[in-house]
Amino acid sequence: MATMGYVAPLSVFALKNELVIGGIPWEFVKRLESMGGAFIEWPKANIDFDVELYKLCCQRMVLEAGVKMYMHSSLIGCEMEGKTVRSVVIENKNGLETLSGKVFIDCTGDGDLAWMAGVPMQENPDGEVQPCSFCFILADVDTESDLLNKCMYHNGINGPSQCKPVREKLLALKEAGAPIPDFGGPWFNNVLHKGCVAVNITRRAADSTDNRNFTDTECQLREDIFTFTQLLKENFPEFKNCYVASTAPQAGIRESRRILGVHTVTADEYVNAYHYEDSISRGIHPIDLHASKGSGQFRIDLDQPAYVPYRALIAPDYPNLLCAGRCISTDRQALASLRVQASCMGTGQAAGVAAAQSVAAGCSVQNIDTQALVEELKNLGTIL
Ligand SMILES: Cc1cc2nc3c(=O)[nH]c(=O)nc-3n(C[C@H](O)[C@H](O)[C@H](O)COP(=O)(O)OP(=O)(O)OC[C@H]3O[C@@H](n4cnc5c(N)ncnc54)[C@H](O)[C@@H]3O)c2cc1C
Repeated sequence: MATMGYVAPLSVFALKNELVIGGIPWEFVKRLESMGGAFIEWPKANIDFDVELYKLCCQRMVLEAGVKMYMHSSLIGCEMEGKTVRSVVIENKNGLETLSGKVFIDCTGDGDLAWMAGVPMQENPDGEVQPCSFCFILADVDTESDLLNKCMYHNGINGPSQCKPVREKLLALKEAGAPIPDFGGPWFNNVLHKGCVAVNITRRAADSTDNRNFTDTECQLREDIFTFTQLLKENFPEFKNCYVASTAPQAGIRESRRILGVHTVTADEYVNAYHYEDSISRGIHPIDLHASKGSGQFRIDLDQPAYVPYRALIAPDYPNLLCAGRCISTDRQALASLRVQASCMGTGQAAGVAAAQSVAAGCSVQNIDTQALVEELKNLGTIL
């Protein structure tokens, strides 16, 4: 979502200047910073970034680690033997390719591999889903102005990061009958370049796992981008010369499939910082549930970092499949915090180490030694 959705900043790495998420995620941030591609907003360590340097930094780190990449490839199926994934099928310019492996990690956000493998998914009793937002970059904005300076940073020093004056004006216009689509925030995010901001304002509910529905929604959201840009130009001098420099490659997705894991993290456990024996990662972003309609947002701030157990990354009976990122096993409210990027990265590192241990020990992902996993993660800089 950082590079495909222009979702900024990367939230949240620290509480009161103290890191909550370390390991490879933090190594990545520091490396990006050393390339001039990241600005760390203390005390929360939200990370503003340059999208293009982000891609370059990822590419370098992945290639240095010896990872074989398949760009421009879609996962389209998998071959199963019982509940064991034997291979995945990808589609690209070479046609169909089958990739076999001992352990598979699903980081598709939508839990595509787990779904294809037949893993049961969380049910959404009220059918509600957080909306999609199509983010974009505006150029020729007066980023030196008081308005932008107060809301472009998300360190909490200037209050909530949504831009209140713009929000109030748009709500007033809407109330007065102007044809303004639903919107969130808005949030104007620092992308490290004078005059440019990444904008998160559009909002429409969609099922990202249904191609037709997602396509229709993305088209409507693209219209919304230009509607809001015009409104900003007309109503705020700070935006009078601005233009859409770039829309993200795709609309951003906050919520879709999540596996029914061995353990499902609940909001209650999360808010109360329940500590599990197999805690493998943490999170400190508020529970932040965007309403599917209107401009509302349900929010609970956390007093202390929450934990994620390893058992939320695996489903019962699927011996060689792990999930990381927003498709892990959580209820809707816990997801509304865990879905942020630093937390997703934390589960990613844990899934990687667990996969390696499963292969080394020749056992299923359910049977690895979780204490050894926790110790190894600590050795690798994860803060638990
Ligand atoms: C509008 C918006 C605002 C947000 N605001 C913030 C914020 O301020 N701070 C924050 O930290 N987080 C924010 N989030 C949340 C965060 O961006 C996501 O929850 C997070 O990026 C999810 O990480 P992930 O790795 O699970 O999935 P993703 O980041 O979605 O990555 C999944 C990857 O898998 C690929 N993929 C998917 N399906 C397939 C397939 N079938 N075959 C091949 N590849 C596939 C995708 O292309 C993508 O590269 C926001 C999200 C949205 C949408």
